[in-house]
Amino acid sequence: MNFRTPGRLYAEVIGDPIAHSKSPLIHGFWLAALGLDADYRAARVAPADLSAYFADRRADPDWRGCNVTIPHKLAALDHVEDRGDVRATIGAINLAMRAEDGALIGANTDAGGFYAPIAGFDFSGKPVVVIGAGGAARAVLFALAKMDVGPVTVLNRTPLKGAALLSTFGLKGRALPLTAALPPAALLVNAGALGMTGQPSLDLDLSPLPDDAVVYDLVYAPLETDLLAQANDRGLETVDGLEMLVAQAALAFELLFGVEPPRERDDELRELLTA
Ligand code: NAP
Repeated sequence: MNFRTPGRLYAEVIGDPIAHSKSPLIHGFWLAALGLDADYRAARVAPADLSAYFADRRADPDWRGCNVTIPHKLAALDHVEDRGDVRATIGAINLAMRAEDGALIGANTDAGGFYAPIAGFDFSGKPVVVIGAGGAARAVLFALAKMDVGPVTVLNRTPLKGAALLSTFGLKGRALPLTAALPPAALLVNAGALGMTGQPSLDLDLSPLPDDAVVYDLVYAPLETDLLAQANDRGLETVDGLEMLVAQAALAFELLFGVEPPRERDDELRELLTA
């Protein structure tokens, strides 16, 4: 098996499926804007091929690393060195990088990417609601613990998974089924799959939220989910999934290519991503 096209520096995003990924557009936009002679592309890697993929790339000095998406975020940890203690903290990686000596280093930029768009708000001590208890929720809860928020209510189809994550991240709060009424919260985050294209929409009554609440939906396809439309109708502050997507990609870009991406061109990038 040979996934390689040698010749110039490159990075990629791996997953299965992968055709839907917006990462090549984002990184490609930044590489072109900076005039860097490097490539960023998508590679479909089936779970059974993950070992062969990493063995191949480890030997390729042109390969800077890869973003890792569904279904490899947990499994990829077994193929990298965990210098940042990611396994014991967030528990999943979304980035593997090749060091000069060929070592592979795992990292996670999802937590930082989640935090960046809300860095200007102060949620310390305030109640938060998180919907979902999968991989994205892990990064969100990790970040919330660092932000020193108040009690966290996790609403999830499988509440036990929510309870386990609260305990993992040392957060005070409770886990309830998705059908539970929404408690008042300063920040409501949808980190679950509902609302994505092809999934039922998230059916929530937002009336318990105060007027200064922030509603943050990690789903980016569609960009304006029913949840965000409802929050906008209420006049609440909203953050969409593209903001996190671009913010986590920016952290990854700097780690992969050693330069900051031109974030002053975010409006242009957003237009490209929503075209
Ligand atoms: P995941 O690990 O597969 O977790 C999926 C979550 O959705 C779980 O909580 C699961 O509940 C719930 N769920 C799935 N199908 C459901 C259904 N039919 N009814 C009710 N709940 C359901 O996926 P993920 O990686 O966490 O991704 C979750 C969402 O976040 C996706 O929309 C993804 O695109 C988005 N995301 C966005 C970014 C970004 O940068 N904006 C980054 C990462 C992820 P159970 O626990 O009960 O199975």
